[in-house]
Amino acid sequence: MSLIVQKFGGSSVQDAKHLRNVAGLIAETYLEGNDVIVVLSAQGDTTDGLIEKACEINPGASKREMDMLLSTGEQISVALCAMALEGMGLPCVSLTAWQAGIQSTSVHGDARIKKIDTERVRGELDQHRIVLVTGFQGLNRRGDITTLGRGGSDTSAVALAAAFQADLCQIFTDVDGVYTADPRIVPTARKLEEITYDEMLELASQGAQILHNRSVELAKKFRVNLEVLSSLERKSGTHVKEVTKKVEKTNIAGVARDVSIARVALVGLEHNPGVAFQVFHLLSKHNINVDVILQSIGREDTKDISFTVHKKDLADTVAVLEEHKDTLRFDHITADEHIGKVSVVGVGLMSNSGVAAKIFEALYEAGINIQMISTSEIRVSVLLDEEDVNRAVRAIHDKFFGEV
Ligand code: ASP
Ligand code: MG
Repeated sequence: MSLIVQKFGGSSVQDAKHLRNVAGLIAETYLEGNDVIVVLSAQGDTTDGLIEKACEINPGASKREMDMLLSTGEQISVALCAMALEGMGLPCVSLTAWQAGIQSTSVHGDARIKKIDTERVRGELDQHRIVLVTGFQGLNRRGDITTLGRGGSDTSAVALAAAFQADLCQIFTDVDGVYTADPRIVPTARKLEEITYDEMLELASQGAQILHNRSVELAKKFRVNLEVLSSLERKSGTHVKEVTKKVEKTNIAGVARDVSIARVALVGLEHNPGVAFQVFHLLSKHNINVDVILQSIGREDTKDISFTVHKKDLADTVAVLEEHKDTLRFDHITADEHIGKVSVVGVGLMSNSGVAAKIFEALYEAGINIQMISTSEIRVSVLLDEEDVNRAVRAIHDKFFGEV
């Protein structure tokens, strides 16, 4: 007998038909003799709908009240799914984050799980009940409901799997696993049997929207045995683990794209120590996350610093910098929203000379200009014109995985 955590995303529970299908999958796992904890997201685009409703009433609503509202979507899902299971004659109970003992930090809209009090859920499992827990929500010190950030139900599931030392944490979604690239862009993309936590983490943070970033961080930290699979087909998905047996001859796990970024350049900064510190300290004080950074070689006592931010932060970034123009002493700012980032991820990528060259060769052959480059031990990212992004993903993917 094993303890299995199963998480189903919004599309998997979108309506009664899908919910019944999900109840069927849960029932199968339970009837095989396993303990089952289920984590559900809100149905379909319920969360977006709730955000719209809030905006109609008050676009400046407080984050606390937003959390009070947004957390209701998940509550609907677990109650309905429990009803489906009851209808099948199976013992089950649905719980909110509060009932399930999920304690979080206080930051509304972006809370982190701090601790899970396992007593209640453990008691229910001991009674052989299937336990359904609302994803995406937590409870802060004051007893207020928090949410974990968009897509946060994955993190709820992994945190529960870690707290209960589950044998397996299955993340069911509408794709059947992690692919070498988005199959909608690269029809020849292949499903990976397995991928390392680090590779998955890089892919998740480079725009592959399969798993919530923090869920992968948690899985890595607590060595959670993770599987991403489809709720619509019964076949195994992609296993996310510490070390994989590399059967592929290529060293890369996948190619990801991100078109949600913008580039900002500060032109004509003084070429003095501390300038970069001042700029990025200022941005971090305003909670603006900066990604790829490039500093030009100084010419005649001035230099330029370019960096990328999330598109949603662009207006704030420019405003904050303009406001401090006198102290930062730059000539002017340029901003470009029409850029995108393509990232190639693979363990051992940078230690294999030739991989980077192959990426640049693919781009050269496709006649694509690179604006900026950044690397980590297991990733190479290039910044491109937004309209070249999909072509670049295909060209690079073909180069490494062949055209068929
Ligand atoms: N329902 C939330 C969202 O749409 C959380 C989740 O689906 O994971 O972001
Ligand atoms: Mg999701």
